[in-house]
Amino acid sequence: MIIHRLDNPSTNISYTPHHLSRIGIDINPICSCNTQSIADSNHLILDCNRYVDGRDELWRAIRHTSSPLPTNLHTALRHAENDLYLNFYKYIKRNNITI
Ligand SMILES: [Zn+2]
Repeated sequence: MIIHRLDNPSTNISYTPHHLSRIGIDINPICSCNTQSIADSNHLILDCNRYVDGRDELWRAIRHTSSPLPTNLHTALRHAENDLYLNFYKYIKRNNITI
């Protein structure tokens, strides 16, 4: 389910503050990490300073794909193979990120 949601961000329900705000729920779409970043999946997984446990390992896995750099979540997943999906899954679970 997590990977399906990551792969299809425009067609699936998301529980990020950004998405909830877009569908009319009264929630601040700006991340609480004080970077003034939109709290979407891309920010929460790849950039947010609230979720750093294992991020170096995740970026190492991304760099081992054919994804051009710098990248974003959508592009990294387009170049992903099973190992990278597993790395994303572990990272999201480890940091208890709600996407
Ligand atoms: Zn953040």
